[in-house]
Amino acid sequence: MTISHSNPQSADSRTGSQAEQPIILLDKVNKWYGDFHVLKNVDLAVRKGERIVICGPSGSGKSTLIRCVNRLEEHQGGTILVDGVELNDNTKNIGHIRREVGMCFQHFNLFPHMTILENLIFAPIWVRKMPRAEAVETAMHYLNRVNIAEQAHKYPGQLSGGQQQRVAIARSLCMAPKIMLFDEPTSALDPEMIKEVLDVMAELAEEGMTMLCVTHEMGFAKSVADRVIFMDGGEIVEQNTPTEFFDNPQVDRTQAFLSQIL
Ligand code: ADP
Ligand code: MG
Repeated sequence: MTISHSNPQSADSRTGSQAEQPIILLDKVNKWYGDFHVLKNVDLAVRKGERIVICGPSGSGKSTLIRCVNRLEEHQGGTILVDGVELNDNTKNIGHIRREVGMCFQHFNLFPHMTILENLIFAPIWVRKMPRAEAVETAMHYLNRVNIAEQAHKYPGQLSGGQQQRVAIARSLCMAPKIMLFDEPTSALDPEMIKEVLDVMAELAEEGMTMLCVTHEMGFAKSVADRVIFMDGGEIVEQNTPTEFFDNPQVDRTQAFLSQIL
């Protein structure tokens, strides 16, 4: 099973210059909540297919940062480009970017009054105007992928937390995103369910999905991430390959954070 939603210019056919253009680019991004400066000059370039883990203390701006990438939060200074399109007040641009970016949250945000299948076909039918039969076929494909097809006619409340999160991931994939954002997708789960969700995320990563994951699952970061980013106080304090990041953190704040969680 492959997930290939990339545009026709696949990795092989891209020229050097196109391959180098980041799929996500943040340039001196700043954001305030009232007087509170929550993102401070954040620069970040993400290559197509890159897997990034963002970690850092609670309140450091991780959720705000990734929510800015699909405009769930609005930045006030600097520039954000997603697949070459600038995120600004232009609603056409916002719509375009939201179509390319899927997101999974800590709380799965499934519609409780709809079955699993209805949850998955809702947006493809109503937003993408996909014929119902095709939407159902796509939904069943992704439910199979996350090993949950047999639950298609149940309601979210009848599933375990880990199953609901896998449904939430499948729901995002039905919209054929080029980029997936994860905001602590396992932190509301019981320990025995964490692995089943991380396994689905690792498979997605293997298939080449561009991923930005806020998580404190450091085993996942070590085995899946190309780059680990440490945020503190609204800034990117340090970033490196997982090996360097964990074995040789450069900044005191990173060392202090890692000593608490490892
Ligand atoms: P993290 O995900 O790293 O825990 P957040 O991005 O959620 O951090 O929050 C960063 C800071 O911004 C926190 O101090 C939080 O209290 C504050 N904050 C988050 N959302 C809002 C909001 N809607 N209004 C005001 N302050 C907020
Ligand atoms: Mg958060």
